[in-house]
Amino acid sequence: MNWRGHVLFGLVLYAILAYLCHISLTTIIILGPLAMFSAILPDIDLKQSKARAIMDIFAVLLAIFYPLAYMYKLNLLKYIQVGWISSAAFIGLYFIAVRFFMPKHRGFTHTIAATLIYAILIYTVFGWLEGCTALIGYSSHLLADKHIRLV
Ligand SMILES: [Zn+2]
Repeated sequence: MNWRGHVLFGLVLYAILAYLCHISLTTIIILGPLAMFSAILPDIDLKQSKARAIMDIFAVLLAIFYPLAYMYKLNLLKYIQVGWISSAAFIGLYFIAVRFFMPKHRGFTHTIAATLIYAILIYTVFGWLEGCTALIGYSSHLLADKHIRLV
C-alpha cells in the first residue's frame, strides 16, 4: 500500500472508532491530521517515504522554533544555553538516528512496541485523546501492511 492508501485507511479507521466512542465531529476533524500522519509514520524507515520527508522538515522547524519559545520565557543567557543548545542537540540526534540507526524496512518501526512507544509519547505531550488517535493511526498502518509483530 502506498502512502495515500495508508493515509486514507488510517483516517477512515480513526473516524469510525472515534465516532463509535462518541467523540464530537469537531474533535474528529481537528485530530484527523494526527491520525493521517500517524498512519504513514511507520514508513519512516524508508528513505524516500512521505513520513521521512515530513519528519525531516518537522525536525528543522522544531529546531528553529523551540529556542524562540524559550526566548519569551527566559532571559537571553538561558535562551542561548537551553534553547539553541538543546535544539542543536535534538536536530543532530535526529539526523544521526535517521542516517545511521534507522532499522531495515518493516523492522522495529512496524511493531506493536513502536506503536505503544509512539502513542505514549503523544499521550504524554498532548493528552489521552491525541494518544488514542496516534495509536489508531499508527496501528492502521500495521494492519494495512499485514505486518503485526510484538517487537
Ligand atoms: Zn509500512
